[in-house]
Amino acid sequence: MSVQVVAAKMAEVELKDVPTGKDLPADSPLTPTSEGKNIARNEPHEAGSSAAASPTAESSAKAGEGLLTPNPAKMPQASAMKRSDPQQNGGEAFVNRDGTVAEAPRMKKIQFADQKQEFNKRPSKIGRRSLSRSISQSSTDSYSSAASYTDSSDDETSPRDKQQKNSKGNGDFCIKNIKQADFGRREIEIAEQEMPALMALRKRAQGEKPLAGAKVVGCTHITAQTAVLMETLSALGAQCRWAACNIYSTQNEVAAALAEGGFSVFAWKGESEDDFWWCIDRCVNVEGWQPNMILDDGGDLTHWIYKKYPNMFKKIKGIVEESVTGVHRLYQLSKAGKLCVPAMNVNDSVTKQKFDNLYCCRESILDGLKRTTDVMFGGKQVVVCGYGEVGKGCCAALKAMGSIVYVTEIDPICALQACMDGFRLVKLNEVIRQVDIVITCTGNKNVVVRENLDRMKNGCIVCNMGHSNTEIDVASLRTPELTWERVRSQVDHVIWPDGKRIVLLAEGRLLNLSCSTVPTFVLSITATTQALALIELYNAPEGRYKQDVYLLPKKMDEYVASLHLPTFDAHLTELSDEQAKYLGLNKNGPFKPNYYRY
Ligand code: NAD
Repeated sequence: MSVQVVAAKMAEVELKDVPTGKDLPADSPLTPTSEGKNIARNEPHEAGSSAAASPTAESSAKAGEGLLTPNPAKMPQASAMKRSDPQQNGGEAFVNRDGTVAEAPRMKKIQFADQKQEFNKRPSKIGRRSLSRSISQSSTDSYSSAASYTDSSDDETSPRDKQQKNSKGNGDFCIKNIKQADFGRREIEIAEQEMPALMALRKRAQGEKPLAGAKVVGCTHITAQTAVLMETLSALGAQCRWAACNIYSTQNEVAAALAEGGFSVFAWKGESEDDFWWCIDRCVNVEGWQPNMILDDGGDLTHWIYKKYPNMFKKIKGIVEESVTGVHRLYQLSKAGKLCVPAMNVNDSVTKQKFDNLYCCRESILDGLKRTTDVMFGGKQVVVCGYGEVGKGCCAALKAMGSIVYVTEIDPICALQACMDGFRLVKLNEVIRQVDIVITCTGNKNVVVRENLDRMKNGCIVCNMGHSNTEIDVASLRTPELTWERVRSQVDHVIWPDGKRIVLLAEGRLLNLSCSTVPTFVLSITATTQALALIELYNAPEGRYKQDVYLLPKKMDEYVASLHLPTFDAHLTELSDEQAKYLGLNKNGPFKPNYYRY
C-alpha cells in the first residue's frame, strides 16, 4: 500500500478539509503513470540519465564492479544537486576513493572505526570514557529533545557487560536498564500527545500495513519522539532495529520501554566511540535478518553499511536521511556516482525547514537563555546577528517579551525585512557597548570577534544559534590574561583583568541544542515526513526512483502539514472548480510551484 492509499483512508474518516493522496495529480511523484514510471516534478535525472546508464547495485555487483567504484556515466545532472542547504555555502565535502567522506572544517568528518576493529577487544572503562568525544557531532544538526530523567549514574556497568531480557524472555537488545521500561512508557505516551500526525497515520492505516515486509534499520536520536515513530512504523507493518546517532542523546528509559515492547534497540546515554559503532553493527550484522530500508540521521549508519556490508545494498530499497550533514554526504556519493539506491532528502522539505529554523528557534531561544542565565527579557537590549529564518525566529520571540532588538545583516533584502518588521538595523560596533545580549545566527564565521568581546559591557550574555561554533571567535578568548570560570553547566564567565566579565553560553555552540529542549511538535513534523518517505520509497514501483537523492515531493510536504492541522481545529478553504481553473491548479494540490518561497 502506498502513501496515497494511507492518505485516502485517513481522509475518508476525518480529514475532510485536507488534501489527500487519493487525488494525487497525474504528475505527482506519488502517482505512477500507466507505464508505471515516475514523472516527478522534482525528478532529478534528465532524459539522458536513464536506468540503463545507471546500473543497479545488483548489476554492478554482478559485473564485478565494486559498489564504491565511481561511474562517471552515472553522474547526476547538476540541477539534481540543488538544494537550500546553507551549509553548502561553507565547507566542501569530498568522497575519497575508498568511500570515506572527507570534509573541510565547516562539516565534521565521519570518523569510521577501524575496518579491522574487533569489538570484543574493548577498551577499559576509563578508555571508553576518554573515547567519548562526540562522534555524533555529525548529528548535532538534527534535533533531540533528550532529557533522561532516570539516568542512574551510579550504575557504571557497561550495558555490553550485562545480560538482560524483557518480560517475554527476549534479549535481542542492548540498553542501560530494562527495569526503567515503565517510566519510559510514560515518556512515550506524553510525546504521543504532541505527535498527532503519526498517531493519525497509525490509526488510519490499521489493517492496511503499507510497510508489511519492510525491515527498517534506523540510526537516530533515541528519544520518546523517536519511539513514537518506531511504534508507528511497526503498526504499519515494519520490523525495526535501531541504534543511536548520538552518544549522549539516548533517553535510557525510553530505550528500555522500546526493548520491553520487543524492539531490538542498541543504545544508551554516554556510549564510547567503540560502543557507538558496536551498536550500529549489532543492528545490521544479525543472522537471518537483513534490512531493506535505512532511516538515518547524520549518515553514520549508511556509511557503515557502505564500508562493511556493501552487498546489503542489493536488498535495500532506499535511504531516508534527516540531517544536513547526512544529506550532504548522500549528495557527495551521488555526485561521485557511488550512490546505489534511491535516497530521500527529508531535511530540505519545506515544512521541516520552517519548523526547524523559524518556529523551533522562536521557541527555544528564550528557553535556552532562561535555563542558563535566569535573565529577564523585558527592556533588555539585544543584538541579533543575521536576519534569516533563525534570526527572524529569535527576534520575534525577544520582541514579544519586551526586549529592544537590534539586527545586523549583510544582505539588503533581509535587512529591509528587518526594518519592515520594526527592528533597528545597525552595525555590530554601533551597539556593542550597550547591549545586554548578543546572539549570532548567520551560519558564518567570526561574526563576533575579540575586538567586539573586549568592548562589551560587564555581564553581557553572548551566545550562538548558528550551526558552527566559529560564529563567535571563542578561541580568541583563550588567552592568559582572561580567566574562565565555569559557573553552571554550559555557562562560563570570562573575566577581563579589570574585573569585567561576559557570560558565554555553551562555549559558542548552538545554544538551543546544547541548553534547551526542542518542542515535540517540531519533531512530529520530521517524524511524519520520515514515515511517509519510507512508505513512498518502500512501495514505489521499480524505476520510479533511481539511484539519486530526491527532495520530498511538494505534495507530500503539503500532506505532512495537513496532517497537523486538526490539532488546531484549523479549517482549510477548498478551491472551487472555477478558482482552481483560474489558478491552473489541481484542487487537491500541490498548491505552489517548487520555486515558491514560503
Ligand atoms: P539563513 O541563510 O536564512 O540566514 C542567515 C543570515 O545571516 C542571512 O540572511 C545572511 O545574509 C546573514 N549573514 C551572513 N553573514 C553575516 C554577517 N557577518 N553579519 C550579519 N549577517 C550575516 O540561515 P538560517 O536558516 O537562518 O540558519 C542560520 C544558521 O542557523 C545556520 O548555520 C543553520 O545551520 C543554523 N540553524 C540553527 C538551528 C537551531 O536550532 N539553532 C536551526 C536551523 C538552522
